[in-house]
Amino acid sequence: MINICFPDGAVRQFESGISALQIAKNISEGLAKKVLVTKVNGEIWDATRPIYTDASLQLLTWDDAEGKNTFWHSSAHLMAEAVENSFPGAKFWVGPALDNGFYYDIDLGDNKLSEEDLLILEKKMNELAKQNNSFNRSERSKADAISYFSEKGDEYKLDLLQNLEDGNITFYSQGNFTDLCRGPHIPSTGAIKAIKLMSIAGAYWKGDEKNKQLTRIYGITFPNQKELDEYLLMLEEAKKRDHRKIAKELSIYTMDDDIGQGLVLWMPNGTVIIEELEKLAKETEEAAGYKRVVTPHIAKENLYLTSGHLPYYADSMFPPMELDGEKYYLKAMNCPHHHKIFDAEPKSYRDLPYRLAEYGTCYRYEQSGELFGLMRVRCLHMNDAHIYCSKEQFAQEFKSVNEMYLKYFKIFGVDKFVMRLSLHNPEKLGKKYVNEPELWKETEAMVRAVLIETGTPFIEVQDEAAFYGPKIDVQIWSVIGREFTLATNQVDFAQSRSFKLSFTNQNNESETPLIIHRAPLGTHERFIGFLLEHYAGKFPVWLSPLQVKILPISDKFLSYATEVKAKLRKVGVRVEIDERQEKIGKKIREAELSRVPYMLVLGEKEMNENTLSIRRQGKGDIGQLSVDEFIRNIVSEIEEKKSGE
Ligand SMILES: [Zn+2]
Ligand SMILES: [Zn+2]
Repeated sequence: MINICFPDGAVRQFESGISALQIAKNISEGLAKKVLVTKVNGEIWDATRPIYTDASLQLLTWDDAEGKNTFWHSSAHLMAEAVENSFPGAKFWVGPALDNGFYYDIDLGDNKLSEEDLLILEKKMNELAKQNNSFNRSERSKADAISYFSEKGDEYKLDLLQNLEDGNITFYSQGNFTDLCRGPHIPSTGAIKAIKLMSIAGAYWKGDEKNKQLTRIYGITFPNQKELDEYLLMLEEAKKRDHRKIAKELSIYTMDDDIGQGLVLWMPNGTVIIEELEKLAKETEEAAGYKRVVTPHIAKENLYLTSGHLPYYADSMFPPMELDGEKYYLKAMNCPHHHKIFDAEPKSYRDLPYRLAEYGTCYRYEQSGELFGLMRVRCLHMNDAHIYCSKEQFAQEFKSVNEMYLKYFKIFGVDKFVMRLSLHNPEKLGKKYVNEPELWKETEAMVRAVLIETGTPFIEVQDEAAFYGPKIDVQIWSVIGREFTLATNQVDFAQSRSFKLSFTNQNNESETPLIIHRAPLGTHERFIGFLLEHYAGKFPVWLSPLQVKILPISDKFLSYATEVKAKLRKVGVRVEIDERQEKIGKKIREAELSRVPYMLVLGEKEMNENTLSIRRQGKGDIGQLSVDEFIRNIVSEIEEKKSGE
């Protein structure tokens, strides 16, 4: 018998050699149907693989990131089976899961794929999925594996085999298809109920353009048709709401070759949004006890050697500038500058928590192929702050930071979010992560405890922490259901040591503070990119670059329009008059297209009665009000940051 420990701490005994799937069946048939893969002693395994020793066990389903990942990777095998069936002799390179779906790179010989072929392959995949073939794992010796793929004449798998160690080689088969793969996979193909092959692309073998070009097929699968339909609808809507397209229509930002790739020029309209966001952040942070600072955009090499950015993060930094025999770097992060401010004057426990905030400008070297609109840029403005606190204060501070996130989510109508807690990997201490095994365990446990205590939805991922401590990425979903990784929140026990930061505690001893790095609104670039999609360019009034457009029916009413404009200006409303001698219908149409929230139509009647005919963007005529009434309404709408819908 072996002891199996479940995530809730319960321990049960089972026959040695039982699989996670059989254990799940033992609990309930319903659960067993949902299990896609398992974690045995923290290692991800096939749910069908026999367990021979005492182990901790976690059953993973579609609701777990690793469940989805395994589902999609297994779907790549299913697609390969369909391809081999239609194109005998096809050779396969790699077929990984993606954030959404999967691909496989395939050498199809002289065959070219058409869109029609994708439909045929989809049909075949559906057929094969219905056969509910199980994914069978078998361990092979290296010699055996080499002879199998030599016989097949598959130079790709032979290439992969070169880098694999004997004793670590596994094959997986389902139906008539066998692949070299380390796994794991879902129990059988039957779980794949809805299939869509999305597109075909060329991909050079190993990403090197000197190599042969392979055919990459992208696909996505789901455990039911409804989820696939929703996903496709979301994609369609996302295309319409592409932030680059809407930003162009609304003159939000531009880029210029003479400035450089990935360097955003914010136009006047974009700058209004930026300033409103900064105003919100400054008010919120001031209320939460933050102090604002301003720091330079460059610093000497030594600073980044102390911070550890240079050894760990050099690839993401711009190359250095030489000046007076010293190297200067553009700052990739604001933290080291803030640490120096903390350290400029001695601190005692009475100064803590010490919270420094700055909308800091950072520069990151992103590969040109990775640049994408506002989402991936080389210069970013970060809603940054660093909180220096004692261990005893940590939980409360971390909780307050969490509350700030929630407050923002409410303002921006973000209903769905999850915190992704990235942990370190003990095997990579001293390489990818600062070598402080005890502190890692301690801080990870503290963060987890706060997330559980506050009922914040979160998931844990291994081996994705920052090099100086555990990291929480905040993932949010736009109204159309697309996921964005927006903000991060990091706990840091290493930098305060490297910078020798300290405070005098109540016992008059020197103590090292903990640091919380947080950026709830992320960067202006990514956040505004998100908002453009989220609102489809129809910003709530408080964020709209232009809030009111006055549309006089003819020149006769220009002086009344100017009077109304002056009154609105006086209370801070952003307003313009369309003074052109165009028909009123045309003025309205164009104002609608520019997504200005309020349009005021002024003619004879309005002028005589000192009223306004009001149109709301997307809703048409919403009636008449006196000038004063309208002003009262719009001012309160702006102050309350109403969502607009
Ligand atoms: Zn595989
Ligand atoms: Zn930081």
